[in-house]
Amino acid sequence: MNHRSQTVEFNTTLLNKYNQPLPRYTSYPPATELTSDFNPDFFHRAIDVGNHKKTPLSLYCHIPFCETPCYFCGCNTIITQRKEVAEPYLGYLARQIRQTAQLIHSDRIVHQLHWGGGTPNYLDLDQVEFLWNQFHRYFRVDAKAELSIEVNPRYVDRNYIQVLRQIGFNRISFGIQDFNPEVQVAINRVQPEKMLFDVMDWIREAEFESVNVDLIYGLPFQTAATFEQTVAKTIALNPDRIAVFNFAYIPWMKPIQKRMPESALPNAAEKLKILQNTIAQLTQNGYVFIGMDHFAKPDDELALAQQAGQLHRNFQGYTTKPESDLLGFGMTSISMLQDVYLQNHKRLKDFYKSIDEKQLPIEKGVLLSQDDLIRRTVIMELMCQFQLSASDLEAKYHLGFDRDFNDYFAPELPHLDLLEADGLIKRWSDGIEVTPIGRLLIRNIVSVFDTYLGERMRDRSDQTFSKSI
Ligand code: SF4
Repeated sequence: MNHRSQTVEFNTTLLNKYNQPLPRYTSYPPATELTSDFNPDFFHRAIDVGNHKKTPLSLYCHIPFCETPCYFCGCNTIITQRKEVAEPYLGYLARQIRQTAQLIHSDRIVHQLHWGGGTPNYLDLDQVEFLWNQFHRYFRVDAKAELSIEVNPRYVDRNYIQVLRQIGFNRISFGIQDFNPEVQVAINRVQPEKMLFDVMDWIREAEFESVNVDLIYGLPFQTAATFEQTVAKTIALNPDRIAVFNFAYIPWMKPIQKRMPESALPNAAEKLKILQNTIAQLTQNGYVFIGMDHFAKPDDELALAQQAGQLHRNFQGYTTKPESDLLGFGMTSISMLQDVYLQNHKRLKDFYKSIDEKQLPIEKGVLLSQDDLIRRTVIMELMCQFQLSASDLEAKYHLGFDRDFNDYFAPELPHLDLLEADGLIKRWSDGIEVTPIGRLLIRNIVSVFDTYLGERMRDRSDQTFSKSI
């Protein structure tokens, strides 16, 4: 499939039909299926399996603190200017790192380490170095590992960026969201254009290997015309990767979002226009549409992995490292080990208490069934490759003989028929291909294979998820 031919036409009559609350499918089952009655033995068993196979590791470290709230934010954060809160948190993080590393076979290499938040640059440089040393002391970090950090551009200077690079980070990411001052005021995140270009200059000067920037569409006062300006300025910044996230408007779960003027939010038709224009604008300017919300330069690892059919997705988004166990450090972080997902405590005091009691700081988890694994493969293939081979799936999970793809997914076939009739997918004897229109509604397409969705919608009405458009 040619991922560079990105011209998309959309029939707006589909809009109301498909603009439904749905998960984002960074994982399947989605994080909403994690429960507190999870048996920690499953975690230990998954660790043992990984130790036996010497499965490589991806490590994620969450720094939850932010100085001021961005009104659109859906992350788990602690807003405080009391910088002294970072010190005890680092102490507990160090203990979790040590505690976890004791379970891991020393031959297992780390090929990804990512610090996110919150705001990782809430830490001063001595604290960054301390935490960096903890990971490198207790884990075997590969010399070629991807070592990435998210920074808030309002709280870095040239020296901070240079020292991050000297310490060893080789990838960096920062949030732009929108260049438009009116939007920036409405979301409580004012970062002038010059500041963003300066930060990019410092990053290039420090010779980071890869730079990602985030944009968000669906924010107050955005229109297709204004967002086109933001995309043009982003292209001028010349990042290697661009994430263009669909704003998840969930004020019933994130009350701070009520501080934005609801009447200024673009409607679904405008949002779709913004997305379509952005895909066209970025692909015409040399970026490859990786999927859902990501773009990358053609020589970037993500684009190359997609071309080679080796792109995958985990709780952090798209990744080129499928065969790894993801371990989450810090409050609220998620771990993903073969057939087990776990989430650390969401409240700081519960996180600290677990560590004090020498327990793993796990709040909830889920053990995936064989059916979950099959459906996860289907969903991830469609989201990453925009196509699915039924025979590959049958071979991988030993379906076939008495029960092939069509038998296994018999209840889903009528829904696939409807998606095909609406032009979102094409089916052929050996599988499914997502059309360019379907790529805009990929969450809707993969939701057909989500067996939990019906139950969730019944139980929770539409309170759990943001709308798909
Ligand atoms: S968007 Fe980032 S900086 Fe803003 S509140 Fe959320 S986590 Fe903090």
